[in-house]
Amino acid sequence: VYTSPINSNNTKQPNSGGIASIHDITNIKKLEQIRTEFVSNVTHELKTPLTSIRGFIETLKSGAIDDKTVAVKFLDIIDIESERLSNLINDILQLSEIENTMTDSDISCHNINDTFKEIYDILEGVAEKKGIKLHFEIENYITIDANKNRIKQMLINLVDNAIKYNKDNGTVTIKAIKKEGTITFTIKDTGIGIDEEHIPRIFERFYRVDKGRSRNMGGTGLGLSIVKHIVNLYNGSINVTSKPGSGTEFIIQLPI
Ligand code: ADP
Repeated sequence: VYTSPINSNNTKQPNSGGIASIHDITNIKKLEQIRTEFVSNVTHELKTPLTSIRGFIETLKSGAIDDKTVAVKFLDIIDIESERLSNLINDILQLSEIENTMTDSDISCHNINDTFKEIYDILEGVAEKKGIKLHFEIENYITIDANKNRIKQMLINLVDNAIKYNKDNGTVTIKAIKKEGTITFTIKDTGIGIDEEHIPRIFERFYRVDKGRSRNMGGTGLGLSIVKHIVNLYNGSINVTSKPGSGTEFIIQLPI
């Protein structure tokens, strides 16, 4: 009899005899199944843009290149699909890196005011295209002891979604409050919302409520998985409340 370090809730369990080993085998099988599913999902996700790229190149080679208007249209599609591929590879690498991290590295004391400014600079252009206003609200000057890039990535993924799944001319409010050793981030949008039945699943890898919409928006289906892993790394919590048609609010609490 042995005790597996990994079980369904990722905690160590006391050695409880023969039954535990059956549980362990079940858990190992479950993990293997999760891994197989992940590899098959990744393969599918990578193949889709690649098939499209190769198809358009073939069509160009067999004559379409002579019609400049058509050629430019096809090259634009190839460009978009290549970007999708590149985003997907970045997200897969990021997820795999963070999934293999037990403790955080590169921790530094930095201020959230600067992080908010950097996020604004990165996402302002995307928001502007849809007429969306980004409101950053912060109480005084908040510092945090954490890996700056991870906190920034976590917020970028949430704000990016809040823009992607928003309505034209909507708003996104991003708040940070520090109280008694806990930092609370709130990201609220006025977008399409999420039906209650989907909320428990949105943090799963490659889970999308509307696959077509996510793909059109350049989504990889991995953004919230990355967020969840970063929150777990800091022993934090994440809560979602949403009203379909009115908007969604993500609240993250980090005991840092
Ligand atoms: P994606 O790349 O598809 O956006 P995510 O992991 O970031 O993947 O999100 C998973 C799914 O959750 C999205 O496809 C979308 O259906 C839903 N979702 C995430 N954020 C929001 C939001 N702010 N408003 C509405 N739906 C959202």
